[in-house]
Amino acid sequence: MGHVIGIDLGTTYSCIACLEGGRPLVIPNVEGLPTTPSVVSFTGSGERLVGTLAMRQAATNSANTFYAVKRLIGQKFNSPEIQEAQKRLPYKLKEAPNGDVHVVLGSKTLSPPEISSMVLGYLKSCAESFFGEPVSDAVITVPAHFNDAQRQATKDAATICGLEVQRVINEPTAAGLAYGLDTKKNGLAAVFDLGGGTFDITILEFSDGVFHVLATNGDSYLGGEDFDNRILEWLYEDFLTETKIDLSADKLALQRVKEAAEKAKRELSFTMETEINLPFISSDKASSKHIRKVLSRQTLEAMTGDLVERTVPRIEQALADARLSPDRIAHVILVGGQTRMPLVQQRVTEFFGRKPEEHVNPDEIVAMGAAIQSGILDGQIRDLVLLLDVTPFALGIETEGDGYERIIERNMTLPTHKVKAFTTVEHNQRRVRIHVLQGEGFLASMNKSLAVFELVGIEPAPAGVPQIDVTFEINADGLARVSAKDKETGLEQKVEVRPSSGLLPTEVEEMRRRQTGREVIKLGPNG
Ligand code: AMP
Repeated sequence: MGHVIGIDLGTTYSCIACLEGGRPLVIPNVEGLPTTPSVVSFTGSGERLVGTLAMRQAATNSANTFYAVKRLIGQKFNSPEIQEAQKRLPYKLKEAPNGDVHVVLGSKTLSPPEISSMVLGYLKSCAESFFGEPVSDAVITVPAHFNDAQRQATKDAATICGLEVQRVINEPTAAGLAYGLDTKKNGLAAVFDLGGGTFDITILEFSDGVFHVLATNGDSYLGGEDFDNRILEWLYEDFLTETKIDLSADKLALQRVKEAAEKAKRELSFTMETEINLPFISSDKASSKHIRKVLSRQTLEAMTGDLVERTVPRIEQALADARLSPDRIAHVILVGGQTRMPLVQQRVTEFFGRKPEEHVNPDEIVAMGAAIQSGILDGQIRDLVLLLDVTPFALGIETEGDGYERIIERNMTLPTHKVKAFTTVEHNQRRVRIHVLQGEGFLASMNKSLAVFELVGIEPAPAGVPQIDVTFEINADGLARVSAKDKETGLEQKVEVRPSSGLLPTEVEEMRRRQTGREVIKLGPNG
């Protein structure tokens, strides 16, 4: 086996790491930087750019520059989240034939895993130039709150760029692993992870090399971008009032405002006041128009305080699931760039009654944890390290009248499985249909549809006689599998699983061939 890398595929930035002499080491990208923007752009001549170069295209080539694709991965086009995201994204989204969301590139569409695979492919090539050798395997991280479809889609993205995924692990768990292994401290820890697009809270226990995740919770739609959008809205409204010019139709101007908003937000983590200066942002018949505004930390905090507050019920739920009170937590670890905001740090300190740990680099710790996990898997890390993660959601099936029966509860230690017996409701029924769902909603329609499961070829018998054992399992990657056995015949029956979303294995393979063969994607006349 070649080198194994740990990858933190972030919404806004990604990071890679490896193990060097049993210690995690961040691998710089080809520009020598520890993190790479998770951005892919296609120029007019069909050239594909990734990372910093792609990000520079965001203002001038916004329709063909894809960022924050992690927010789209594993999602249905019609979901409220995608409908909301669409309003803000400068590139177009389209519904795929299976209902998934795709991005529009000229006359073509691309799936989110395909775009993410280009970011991963770039990171893989950075690691290859670092080692001077091919890289074949990776441990990849996902937000703890990613559902099955989002996890599978992330794994597909890695496969498309030619990486073998050894394990998918949760980002906060990876951070906990890196922190715990580094400090060798025992006790209870809370990992508060607020990145560019997602929020996760994980409660875990370190005890002599065993890392046991007790509970996890989060919000897949809360992250740094929401903070940027608040500043953007403020600038937009103010400009509209002052000039009567609506910037929403001007993608280039909006992108400039968005970038300035993010920059101002970052600066306000270190200063009390900053100036936002955007000359020639628009014009009317009379003159050119500019944006020049002073934003204070206090105003930013007033604009975004509710976003910070949205994390609190999630922390409370995770602690309740772990049957712990905040004062039992001995270490608070902050992960994700947005935790640099002083208001976030203040609120977390207030909640737990203790200051977060220092000397943790929130941009790098997740990739370092992924590299450690690769070392545990291939035996490079020999101290007894056992990582016990949990399921982020319940798994169950649809029952009569939009009912939902939970089979596996959330926060069960992974891997886990449960067998449930089913029977028929009609005489001589030859098949049963099982709709597998993931989520916490009490009605079937409130949960994520994973698969429609059909067991065919049941022996003819009166209703209620056949005994069908259906096994529900969640593997160490957090991915669900379902299989069935007809007890009457004793044979494992052939089961049809029709995935409700995502790419088919044949599509993943086709994309892998295209991508590793470096086919150039040509843009259509509009591209
Ligand atoms: P991540 O996904 O962990 O890379 O987090 C990226 C998010 O962190 C983006 O929304 C950034 O704008 C945000 N971020 C990075 N640095 C800072 C900072 N100094 N203050 C506030 N937010 C930041």
